[in-house]
Amino acid sequence: MMTVETVLLGDGVAAMSLASVADQLPTHSFTVMQPEGAPEPHDHMLGFWNTEGLNFAASGARASWSKWSIVTHEDTAVLSSTEHAYHVMHKLAYLDRCKTVAATHNVAFETETDRTDADLVFDSRPPRSSQNAMLQHFHGLEVEIDRPAFDDSTAILMDFRVDQSQGMHFIYLLPFSKTRALVESTIFSPQPMPEAYYVDAIHAYLMEQHHTRVVKVHHEEKGIIPMGTLAPHDPSIPGLGANAGAIRPASGYTFVFIQEQIKRAIEDVNSGKPLRFKRPHKGIDVWMDTVLLVVLKHWPQHGPSMFSRMASGLTGEEFIRFMSGQASWRLRLKVMMTMPKWPFIRGVSKLMFQRPRKVVA
Ligand SMILES: Cc1cc2nc3c(=O)[nH]c(=O)nc-3n(C[C@H](O)[C@H](O)[C@H](O)COP(=O)(O)OP(=O)(O)OC[C@H]3O[C@@H](n4cnc5c(N)ncnc54)[C@H](O)[C@@H]3O)c2cc1C
Repeated sequence: MMTVETVLLGDGVAAMSLASVADQLPTHSFTVMQPEGAPEPHDHMLGFWNTEGLNFAASGARASWSKWSIVTHEDTAVLSSTEHAYHVMHKLAYLDRCKTVAATHNVAFETETDRTDADLVFDSRPPRSSQNAMLQHFHGLEVEIDRPAFDDSTAILMDFRVDQSQGMHFIYLLPFSKTRALVESTIFSPQPMPEAYYVDAIHAYLMEQHHTRVVKVHHEEKGIIPMGTLAPHDPSIPGLGANAGAIRPASGYTFVFIQEQIKRAIEDVNSGKPLRFKRPHKGIDVWMDTVLLVVLKHWPQHGPSMFSRMASGLTGEEFIRFMSGQASWRLRLKVMMTMPKWPFIRGVSKLMFQRPRKVVA
């Protein structure tokens, strides 16, 4: 059988996820190509709720929690789901597992970039954001602390009891035991901070909220995830993964959306359409996220109460569905009803009069 020779430019999460299910696209033969100028791969944790289709990833997870919380000075919302627990895995271990499976599907791996004889090329190099765009920037430490102070039954998705002067700022804390956790200081704003800012925020938070000190740092990770609408890395090459719109504009969650994007592409091919990777988000979800980003950019002080009220107003399953792009109209309306109205109305009016921004080269 003649196959369509297909090159995946990039060997990150999207390309390797696709390579691991290459057997579902027998009409294509795949080559994963490490692009020229690619940075050294760094490990980091990837978090996701174990929803439908994520069993392969979940089976390699380092830890999972059936409870998660959102904390402000005023309130703690604890949500839960035993069926769809929040999982976290090491990115590099996941890529290795995908590579092992991909090799059994005859996927080739190459490093040069000048391949021109392929029938199809998909580019998974990072997309470009516009000037002054909102960013999610963060620095995390996997720490050992001096006394058993963490509640290891509950992942803390957002704890807003930190300095809010630089944008919406929260701590993300994944407790692996009562004394060990990944603790990340995360800010939503257009301007990344010096590294010391996040590290100091983590130490101050552990002291003030958990009355504990760090005795050892096992691992560090950091990232800058562009939010909002992004431009492709190279407009002349069709995209895959984050470069084809997989980043959820207001949360930065991407892993689950990459899997959805790949699943839909395979369904399309099986129904006779050409292979293509489309933005996996619904227009209404993108619009709601865009309004939220406008609010967080201009009035970040509303962020903590917005997220806290949303968490308090939803069940664990509803929260997962909303975050994973599976919300119904009824659920979206429920989310809107939990939000403070005035910031949202201001966000919508600001959005209507906002000028388009230049893309950063
Ligand atoms: C520290 C950190 C934590 C994260 N945590 C989560 C999480 O918990 N949950 C979640 O859903 N998402 C998370 N993300 C986001 C998620 O990891 C990414 O969005 C995801 O990796 C996107 O997959 P991708 O294949 O589209 O891009 P990538 O996995 O980034 O792959 C991009 C490819 O392009 C190559 N490349 C990059 N830059 C260049 C360049 N300049 N020139 C040439 N080649 C280049 C890379 O080598 C790689 O091969 C996190 C990101 C970071 C950095």
